[in-house]
Amino acid sequence: MSRIKLAELVPVQYEEKPMPIQDSLKWASRYEDQVGSHVQIFFIQSAHQKCVEHVNSSMDREVGGVLVGNVQFDPIELQTYVTIDDVIPALFTNSGETHVTFTQNTLVDLNSRMDESYPGKSIVGWYHTHPRLGVFLSNHDTFLHRHFFPDPTHVALVVDPYYRRAGFFCWQNGKTLDPAKYVGFYETSDMDDHSIVEWENLEPVIPVVQEQQQEN
Ligand SMILES: [Zn+2]
Repeated sequence: MSRIKLAELVPVQYEEKPMPIQDSLKWASRYEDQVGSHVQIFFIQSAHQKCVEHVNSSMDREVGGVLVGNVQFDPIELQTYVTIDDVIPALFTNSGETHVTFTQNTLVDLNSRMDESYPGKSIVGWYHTHPRLGVFLSNHDTFLHRHFFPDPTHVALVVDPYYRRAGFFCWQNGKTLDPAKYVGFYETSDMDDHSIVEWENLEPVIPVVQEQQQEN
């Protein structure tokens, strides 16, 4: 008798919730228009700050970790988005290694910490640094992302802390990954009305206030 595994038949259902656009400042990369349909990213300030403290901790070796949060769906805009509200710095590198790497054990360890410390949240992506090298995915990074972060909503943040540059790499149309073209994100305030982002390759997008002065 064959059993049908229901979990494989039911499409992933994300929580429906409007994107927190009103509480957010958009930071755009120069490639924004050249990257195909992808998940939108809302980076909560306190998580951003924790991430920045970690990525700035070394200017000569790579550091990294995972991005923690939720995947949601905006039913008005019909847009899937991730909210990053924490990061977990991870010790990926063995001494002598020059780049960040993942192993199955790393992820098993991280997932067990998720269940204990972050109930209801999941690992939505990862981050790592390229001190003095710039923002791109190396062949190794692309391999890691394909292997460990295959979900269409998974994102990879690469930061060059020396030149203060950063960008997110996303699955485009759910299945392709461009290792050279990155996008920005929405900075969602939870601690300061002013922006705390200091990545110089991203530009803030100030919304144009449309003054509707209709005289009837
Ligand atoms: Zn890398």
